[in-house]
Formats: sequence, C-alpha cells, structure tokens
Amino acid sequence: MAEEKLPNWLKNRAHLSPDRPAIEFEGQTYSFLELHTLTEKMARRLASAGLMAGDSCAVLLRNHIDGVVAIHALFYLGVKIVMLNNKLTAKELSWQIEDSGASYLLSEGSFASKLDDMAGNLPELPLLLIEQLPNGGTAEILQEFYLEDTATIMYTSGTTGNPKGVIQSFGNHWWSAVGSVLNLGLHEGDTWYCAVPIFHISGLSILMKSVIYGMKVVLAERFDEREANRAIQENGVTIISVVTTMLNRMVHDLKEASYPDDFRCMLLGGGPAPIHLLEACKEKKIPVYQSYGMTETSSQIVTLAPEYSMTKIGSAGKPLFPSQLRIEQDGKASGPGEAGEIVVSGPNVTKGYFNRLDATQQAISDGWLYTGDLGYLDEDGFLYVLDRRSDLIISGGENVYPAEIENVLGKHPDVFEAGVTGTEDEKWGQVPLAFVVLHQGAELSESDLLDYCRQSLASYKIPRSVIFCKSLPRNGASKLLRRELKKGMEEWQ
Ligand code: ATP
Ligand code: MG
Repeated sequence: MAEEKLPNWLKNRAHLSPDRPAIEFEGQTYSFLELHTLTEKMARRLASAGLMAGDSCAVLLRNHIDGVVAIHALFYLGVKIVMLNNKLTAKELSWQIEDSGASYLLSEGSFASKLDDMAGNLPELPLLLIEQLPNGGTAEILQEFYLEDTATIMYTSGTTGNPKGVIQSFGNHWWSAVGSVLNLGLHEGDTWYCAVPIFHISGLSILMKSVIYGMKVVLAERFDEREANRAIQENGVTIISVVTTMLNRMVHDLKEASYPDDFRCMLLGGGPAPIHLLEACKEKKIPVYQSYGMTETSSQIVTLAPEYSMTKIGSAGKPLFPSQLRIEQDGKASGPGEAGEIVVSGPNVTKGYFNRLDATQQAISDGWLYTGDLGYLDEDGFLYVLDRRSDLIISGGENVYPAEIENVLGKHPDVFEAGVTGTEDEKWGQVPLAFVVLHQGAELSESDLLDYCRQSLASYKIPRSVIFCKSLPRNGASKLLRRELKKGMEEWQ
C-alpha cells in the first residue's frame, strides 16, 4: 500500500484561505498567510542553526505566538518534536530530554533560570533560543506530511508512574481533528479559545484543528477566568477547552451573567467532573461537552453532547466516529453496567511509547489500547469512567473507587480538596484512607466528616481514618498523585 500523505497543513491552509484569521495573541491577529510567512522564516532560521529532516528536537515553550510558529516550523522541516511540559522541574525535564533521545533543545529567554538549573544534568545537546537563532538562509520545506510519520512525542502526565513518551503521528493528529469536527461540527466564524498548554495534547490539538479546519484560535499565555469570560462575551469565542478547575473558576466569575447564544461548546476534559458543577452549568445554560481522552488518544476520544448532560449525568459520552471502545474484564467483554478496563482503538490512537517496547506491548494488543482506566457502559452505550486500575482498592472482595469517595468528601462545605488511597488491613485486605485539606479557617472533626460520608456511602467505602493536611501532592499537570499520599504522609500533613 502506498504510504498515505497530505499536503503540508499550514502551507496548504495558507494557500486555500490566506486571509482568514488564524490566530489572535495579545490583541494582534495573524492571518493564515501571515502565520505561514512567519513559519517559513523561522524554518529557515532553524535550518541555519543546523536542524534537518529526521532530527528530533525537544521544545520548552510558553503559550505564545513564537511557540506556535516554532512548532509549525519544525513540522515544515520534518523535525520530530518532543513536547516538554514547562511546569516540570529541571530534573524532570532533563530526564525526559534524555529519555526522548532528542538531538536539540529549543527554548526561549523566559526560561533562562530553568535552563540554568538544567545545565548540570542535561545530556550533550545544542540549546537554541528562539530570540538568538541565526538569520535564515535556505531551508527545504516539506510539501507533504506522511500520516505514518511521527509528528510529536508527548509525555504522559506521570500520574501512575514515570511519564512515558507517547508517539503521535501526523495521522493520529489528523484523525483526532476529524473525529472532533464530525462530532462538534464547524460553524462559520468558529473561534476556539486556547488557554490550556500547547505542550499538552489539549492545547496542541487546537493548533492542529486550526490549520486543518481553517479556524481562528485565540491564544492566551495563561488562564485567567475573567479574560476567558470576556473573550466569550465580547470577543466572539464560540468554543473553549477547559479542565474542571478552569470551569469552576469561570462559573464563579460569571455570577449572574450568561454567555451569548453563539457560544456553543465548553469542552471539558482531563479528569472527572463533579456533579454539582455540571448542575450549576446546566442552570446557567452553559453547553458543557464532557470528554474522556489521554495523551495516547491524541485528545478526546469519547464525548458527551450537552443534550445528555442531565439524563446521563456523570457520563463521558460515546466514542467519536472513527474510534471504538469496549469494556473488558479478565479478557472478556463486559455487559452493560459491568465494570472493567476501558479499551479503545481508532486512527487517533498511538502506535506506542517511544523506546518502551515493554510498556507498548503491555498496553497495545491487536491495535487496541488498554487504557488502565476502569469504567462501564450503560444500556445505551454511554461510558462512565470509574477510576484508574492502579488506584482501585479491594476491600473484603469489594471494589472501592477512590474517586467516588473523594467526590463525596469534596461536597462537604468545609472541604477544599480530598485524596483517597488504600492501606493494608489484616481483616479486609485493604481499606480506604482519606487525606483532606479544609478551607482556610474551617474546623471539622474526623468523626463529623465520617458521619457525613455515611449519608451517601456504603460502610465498606467509609475511610478507615481521615488525615488532615495542608496540601495534596500533585504532578506538573496538577493531577493528584495518590501513590505519593501514603508515601509522604508526614510531608503532606
Ligand atoms: P500517566 O499515564 O503517566 O499515569 P496520565 O494518565 O494522568 O499520566 P494523561 O494522558 O495526561 O496522563 O491523562 C489521561 C488520563 O486522565 C486518563 O487515562 C484518565 O485516567 C484521566 N481522565 C481523562 N478524562 C477523564 C474523565 N472524563 N473522567 C475521569 N478521568 C479522566
Ligand atoms: Mg495515562
């Protein structure tokens, strides 16, 4: 079979709709032709610095127009991009760069102190700063992208173990963008607000959609709820990608106001959504699309349309058109309502982890990815995500999902946040243990909180004890690290 290829996305887009707005950053709007011109120029400068097709380049960048241009420019040159999370520590970054085998590191002056901290640990590789690239000579620009080729290597968040470098091909990104638009549709004048990081699949996938669809993106360097609400209310934003904490802050800031009718999609992903937040959104007529996905699926793979947001409350929805999903338990497909591992396949799903044959073979079998997440499908085929397999607590033969207990704890008005993990127990095997951070100034006793839990949880799910602490351990993606809870008990108290 001939290798499938598509015309270079941004270049082709600049040819097809040169004058359409591509991206707005800090009040300045760039058309697709302007973005292409900047990209070509940057590609020439990167080529002058030595980058060539087939190289791989780690990038440490902000959400900034220069970062977007750099990403496209590396695609133009046929250079694989290793996307680095700029919230990671110098040590974590050095590990990822080493692991990825990148031959260059591209960054910018604003990360000077982080780069200094990394200096001692970094493998021998040239560091290029965007501001100091040489003036451009000539560069060979890819006219076509092969769908099989690796576009990006993006590390998982490292919530369950060491991060793994996910290989994302051009085909994975293409099909992710197509799957999304088949589900959400595309309206004239659609504008997607991107305040999620462009080094993460949530942000990068918006940049891909922009050039594939010919759609405008408003890029924010960092998330600010007032800015985001203003962009929707006054700046024509019709779609925004958010995680729960962002949505929470936006709803809070919105107060009694509402969004214009043109605003059509609040795409919510990255983790579980608390039911009370979804209810508040329903009341304010905010069109929330819940979604489920991971780095390995190059953005969301399952989405719940708002018309089901109340009848299927808590569900992540159904797979996007090109993808398939099943629930498996002990090698057999589970029936409706039966919990098991979520297994997915589709052209947006990675072919594996970089340099990790063992992890790839463990996770992927016959084109199906074993996600490590537990969930079930209801009678109508809607997915409910329960928890991560590695966090499951088995107590007296019963499955206990930490997320369910955390949800109940989190609803108590005095509780700011809660984390639950299992601890050994002679009689039951394991029992849940809760770590709770209270709101500032709140006073709540362990017995009162456990009484509260008893109102909504079966007795075997009631935490053995509650440990009050000042904060919970989180990773660079702000995800709760349950495995660290027990380990660092003293540290978190
Ligand atoms: P690692 O794989 O290194 O442990 P990670 O899985 O947190 O890190 P990501 O790819 O950023 O890395 O996150 C994907 C995970 O986020 C999913 O596998 C799932 O556990 C969780 N997640 C995503 N969407 C949802 C959702 N709607 N409900 C519950 N969990 C979700
Ligand atoms: Mg994962």
